[in-house]
Amino acid sequence: MSHASVDVVVVGAGAAGMSGAVALAGLGLQVVLLDEQGSPGGQIYRGITLAPLSRRDMLGPDYAQGNVLAQALGASTVRYEKGAAVWQVTRDHQVSYLRDGRLHTLQAKAVLLATGAMERPFPISGWTLPGVMSAGAAQILLKSSGLAPSEPVVLAGCGPLLYLLGWQYLRAGVPIKALVDTTRPEDYWRARRHLFAALRAWPYLRKGLDLMRSLRSAGIAHYTGAEQLAIEGSEAATALTFSVSGKAQRVATRCVLLHQGVVPNIQFSQSLRARHHWDIDQLCFSPVLDPWGEMDVPGVYVAGDGAGIGGAQAAALQGQLTALGIARQLGKITDAERDQQAGPLRETLAANLRIRPFLDALYQPKEQNRIPADEVMVCRCEEVTAGQLRQFVALGCTGPNQAKSFGRCGMGPCQGRMCGLTVTEVIAKARGVSAAEVGYYRIRPPIKPITLGELAGE
Ligand SMILES: Cc1cc2nc3c(=O)[nH]c(=O)nc-3n(C[C@H](O)[C@H](O)[C@H](O)COP(=O)(O)OP(=O)(O)OC[C@H]3O[C@@H](n4cnc5c(N)ncnc54)[C@H](O)[C@@H]3O)c2cc1C
Repeated sequence: MSHASVDVVVVGAGAAGMSGAVALAGLGLQVVLLDEQGSPGGQIYRGITLAPLSRRDMLGPDYAQGNVLAQALGASTVRYEKGAAVWQVTRDHQVSYLRDGRLHTLQAKAVLLATGAMERPFPISGWTLPGVMSAGAAQILLKSSGLAPSEPVVLAGCGPLLYLLGWQYLRAGVPIKALVDTTRPEDYWRARRHLFAALRAWPYLRKGLDLMRSLRSAGIAHYTGAEQLAIEGSEAATALTFSVSGKAQRVATRCVLLHQGVVPNIQFSQSLRARHHWDIDQLCFSPVLDPWGEMDVPGVYVAGDGAGIGGAQAAALQGQLTALGIARQLGKITDAERDQQAGPLRETLAANLRIRPFLDALYQPKEQNRIPADEVMVCRCEEVTAGQLRQFVALGCTGPNQAKSFGRCGMGPCQGRMCGLTVTEVIAKARGVSAAEVGYYRIRPPIKPITLGELAGE
């Protein structure tokens, strides 16, 4: 066990964490950057420093951009610790992590949480069968090890990451049997009012259009407005069934990749009992922050997708802005210096975020894919179905924390990460109240699994 003091601990070496840590070090602060992965990059730039050139090329130019951040990190005075799984952050800035089987604790003056996003659960019938994965998990295999399915896949759901994976699979030569898109004509209608702002973010929009064009010109069967998605199979997935305009469809496949957007990873901010709000556009909880990214827990800041989904470039800018806020708090710069340096960053950030309302409206996940039928598994760790949750509500359960006592829901190894949002929404619908009123799991450390032996070492 080791104990040491530093100015700032940054948790997460993605776009936000890397740029925030480099900026903090540039402002004269002593910084430790912790990440459980084996190399810097986070989700979008996962494995960027290790990927062979051929893989970088296959993953596209956005991926390759991560190298600039990783090089800046390497050239800075930041102490980057890879393979460091942070399992606890306290309100008085102690950060505990496990690395190479040993426990370490750092005492910081400020903490920057840059733990990014997670994929939204996609609880439909059959989603726990072997052969069904999330598109993000499939992309992790591609980025970190160059692994891809050997037989034709079906991509189902909606959102930029789903289409990006399709495009990357095309470049990798992975056969795609069908793209089953849940986006309906009325979604375009709803998003239409944000089109003007989106057009002002034309490079983003063009990128998305190019992705879709590539998928179409590759001749992949493309279904749009898909409803009633379900996966067939007893021992493993054998087909995806759905309906389009009331007509039943079935695509035989042994590999279904599901995706319907990403949501902030709020495990740490929740464990710190910080205030959160329910975002009615992104349909998720995010921490309430001041203009510099500080929560209502003094000295604990959040930047990047963990603060609300904005994408990699916005995350990097938020990392820099937060660094200015922290440097001001720790007396390294004056208010005037902070505000002057923040001005251009805020302008670029606002330009980067212009596309979001359009994307949020267009790819808002459908209720039928968020609030499942009774027989569908919600908590995969403890095997609790939506029907059981509804029974708990009938017996007086008012929220996710009581669902734990009623049926161990959310008490498995994932600590509720996979089911949290679904549990909130199922209970809210069953009670006829808002998700904000129902709230989220009361998250407690350890945030990452840790053995008693490891803990006893401390
Ligand atoms: C699976 C997935 C794949 C994605 N792929 C893309 C993509 O290809 N292109 C794109 O534009 N957007 C992608 N996104 C969206 C993407 O997350 C962001 O836009 C961008 O990466 C956000 O940057 P960030 O710095 O906020 O977080 P991230 O890049 O997610 O970085 C967060 C980092 O925190 C670390 N971390 C989290 N918890 C802990 C802990 N307890 N201990 C230690 N370390 C921890 C993680 O290992 C990670 O490295 C993806 C999202 C997901 C969920």
